[in-house]
Amino acid sequence: MCNPFKLNNVTPFKRRMSIDPSLIGENKLNAKSVKCKDCGDLIIRKNVGTYVKKDIYLPKYNSRRPEDGEVESDFWFLNNMMKFDNIGFSKMVQGNDKTATSIVTPSPPEATGVVDPQNATNPTLHHQHVRYLTCCACDRGPVGVQLTPQEFYIDAKRVAYD
Ligand SMILES: [Zn+2]
Repeated sequence: MCNPFKLNNVTPFKRRMSIDPSLIGENKLNAKSVKCKDCGDLIIRKNVGTYVKKDIYLPKYNSRRPEDGEVESDFWFLNNMMKFDNIGFSKMVQGNDKTATSIVTPSPPEATGVVDPQNATNPTLHHQHVRYLTCCACDRGPVGVQLTPQEFYIDAKRVAYD
């Protein structure tokens, strides 16, 4: 198992508020349907994703540079791609390519107060076939990540609810 990302190693501004508890329904399922916050395209219907607390490194929203990211920790978990109504996959794939290298060894020009990716546990680096999830209608994202064929995580704070 990979080491959990240690929150107490993170500078305070990196600690972020949890999501609105009213979004979490019975059995920790999403109480509202999850949509793209930019175009409103339906991503998952309600009662499909399970709320989980998990620290996962994601590139910033609308960033095309994988090394420019942050650790998110509120996710809707799905174990099957067929449970999505609509989802796209980013071409940013980590693995043994140079994209992964650029995440492991970025040159941090102003590392003060910023999570140093070289020291921080980056859960995604322990997985061979990480794919980022995007809105398939407008291609914005990433809104989440696929870690294994049966593990999909939608960032609960990068989506809209209805
Ligand atoms: Zn969209």
